[in-house]
Amino acid sequence: MLDIQLPDGTVVSHPDDATPLSVANAIGSRLAKAVVAAQVGAAIIDASRPLKPFANGSPIPLRLLTERDPEALDVLRHSSAHIMARAVMRLYPDVSLAFGPTISNGFYYDFLMPHKLTEEDFAKIEQEMAAIVAKAEPFEQFSLARQDAASLCKDMKQGLKVEHIETGLASHSELGFYRQGEFVDLCRGPHIPDAGRLKAFKIMSVAGSHWKGNTSGPQLQRLYGTAWFDKKDLQAHLDQLEEAKKRDHRVLGKKLGLYHITPDVGQGFCLWMPKGARVRGLLEDFLRREMLKRGYEPVYSPHLGRVELYETSGHFPYYRDSQFPPLFVHDAGALVDAWARRLMEDEEFGPKQETMFLQAAEVLGFDSANYSKAEGKESKLAALNEWQRNHERFLVKPMNCPHHAQIFKAQPRSYRDLPLRLFEFGTVYRYEQTGELNGMLRVRGLTQDDAHIFCTADQVEEEFRNTIELTRFVLESVGLQDYRVQLSLRDPKSDKYVGSEENWQKAEAALRKVLEESGLNFNAAEGEAAFYGPKADFMVRDCIGRHWQLGTVQLDYNLPERFDLEYTGADNKSHRPVMIHRAPFGSMERFVGMLIEHFAGAFPMWLAPEQIRICPLSEKTNDYAVELEKRFTEAGFRVTTDLRGAKVQAKIRDAQLDLIPYMAVIGPKEAETHSIALRDRISGELGTKPVDEVLAMLSEEVASRRIRKVAERKFAEPPQATEPSSHEY
Ligand SMILES: [Zn+2]
Ligand SMILES: [Zn+2]
Repeated sequence: MLDIQLPDGTVVSHPDDATPLSVANAIGSRLAKAVVAAQVGAAIIDASRPLKPFANGSPIPLRLLTERDPEALDVLRHSSAHIMARAVMRLYPDVSLAFGPTISNGFYYDFLMPHKLTEEDFAKIEQEMAAIVAKAEPFEQFSLARQDAASLCKDMKQGLKVEHIETGLASHSELGFYRQGEFVDLCRGPHIPDAGRLKAFKIMSVAGSHWKGNTSGPQLQRLYGTAWFDKKDLQAHLDQLEEAKKRDHRVLGKKLGLYHITPDVGQGFCLWMPKGARVRGLLEDFLRREMLKRGYEPVYSPHLGRVELYETSGHFPYYRDSQFPPLFVHDAGALVDAWARRLMEDEEFGPKQETMFLQAAEVLGFDSANYSKAEGKESKLAALNEWQRNHERFLVKPMNCPHHAQIFKAQPRSYRDLPLRLFEFGTVYRYEQTGELNGMLRVRGLTQDDAHIFCTADQVEEEFRNTIELTRFVLESVGLQDYRVQLSLRDPKSDKYVGSEENWQKAEAALRKVLEESGLNFNAAEGEAAFYGPKADFMVRDCIGRHWQLGTVQLDYNLPERFDLEYTGADNKSHRPVMIHRAPFGSMERFVGMLIEHFAGAFPMWLAPEQIRICPLSEKTNDYAVELEKRFTEAGFRVTTDLRGAKVQAKIRDAQLDLIPYMAVIGPKEAETHSIALRDRISGELGTKPVDEVLAMLSEEVASRRIRKVAERKFAEPPQATEPSSHEY
């Protein structure tokens, strides 16, 4: 018999062949019908999986998942990917399957196939999927030894899967498959019990992709879809997408003149237009003032650093693929670098190529005295590396942290100097793939609102409390009230973490305590921490219900070690400080891009690039208009005047379209009485008011950072799935 523990704590006994489904059946047939999958400990499994393999002496913790559980939605979506692939294979010849994971709000499958998929094909594929769903055949799991798995895929003419089994999965002795009617796919699962559980789905788009991301490999077609348990949920999702489209920062950014990206400058490089730069500047000024108030100190660092700096920090060569290549001062630098990398990666090359390399390097001025063709790989590498160390190489900086660590190190530090809080709006560069770029949200050059706090282990709690408070304050100042915090903690069973056991325990307890006391909505995720420290991420929901990961606070025991940072304690001995990385906005590009969408381009008064537009009725009041503009400007407002000969209605309409919070309409009567017929973009005419009253009213709105209505309508919000997970091997 198996002892099974249900979420309410009760332990029930079941026969050895029990499955989540049979356990559900014992509780009631209604529940059994509702079960989609199950959770055992941290693992999500099929409802039909035997539970016996999970027995380890203590009762098996089992949670049955129904359509209401976020975990079930992710299972549904991966099953939908299988159903979509099955439909595609029925409709088109010679389809090779690549990977088909879930993503946020949906799934995709990558296909290698001769037919070029277009939007015209979607209806046909959806129809075929509906036919599969109607038959409601079960998803059946089976496992094969690696060799048999490879031959099965070969028989099915699935060459990419064969290759994956032979390379990526070389260490797996056994591999799982799922059968659904005639469709069989190499898959880790889990899946819904049968295709009939899929009630609402839609194919969304098609794009190009590459096998394992390798751009020199075969070109694949990536078909995206979305899936839900309920038609209402699908509709809510589509409504949300429709609303998001209206708010697309790439469209609004262009229309409102906020930013510009052009291939003439380079994909992924943001040009801030004057209005966008205004918004960014206001946010930076705001945060800078808050940080200065809270004891932070400003620093600046250059956009370049020696490669060795990032070797020390560990950012090079580990993250090399996501960085811009190094800059070599010596002509032979790139050649030596390429040669060393080939040697390191054991790439095949012969003595002829080696001779050619040496000749080319010599032409470029490489002094080969220490490089001997007769020596082994290790000493060749040593010679090349030594040459590199003697010749300057720089990286455009991928991170600000190493620079700030060096600022800490620039002078002896005592415990009296701590905590030391250094901040910088530091621009960093990442080499994102062209296909990954997305307006301001995913760029190649980004400015982080970065800061590093160096403190003692005892100060972690207080510093963490302060950074959490600052992040909250910042988010709420731009009207983002709806957020939760994900606290990423260590996996207590793993030993991959750096830093002492004592420090981790203390820090994790402190972080938890601060979040509990703060009253914030937070969840702790064990095993999610980076190897170098626990962290807290702010997950923000915007006004149309989309989730964004924004501010982050991260503890770090690793960099102080790598940079050998020290301070002298009260005991006169030397100690290691703890480093805290934090960025409430994340990056200015992503944050402003998100704000454009959140506000649909209509920034609140305190952030609006243009706050007031003066609209004279006719040329007769132009003089008064100019005088008013001067008064508003002197009072610190961002104001413009529409002196065109157009009708005032046209001026007002244009100001509305430009999303300017206030319009000051003036005619001879207003000029005479020194007043303004004030118009609010949202609520319309506010009546005629004396200029002083308007100035006072608008100043108050700016000072209090009041947020006006941001969403036109309320959304039936689609349910959220858990984070997409890889069902693939
Ligand atoms: Zn699968
Ligand atoms: Zn950092």
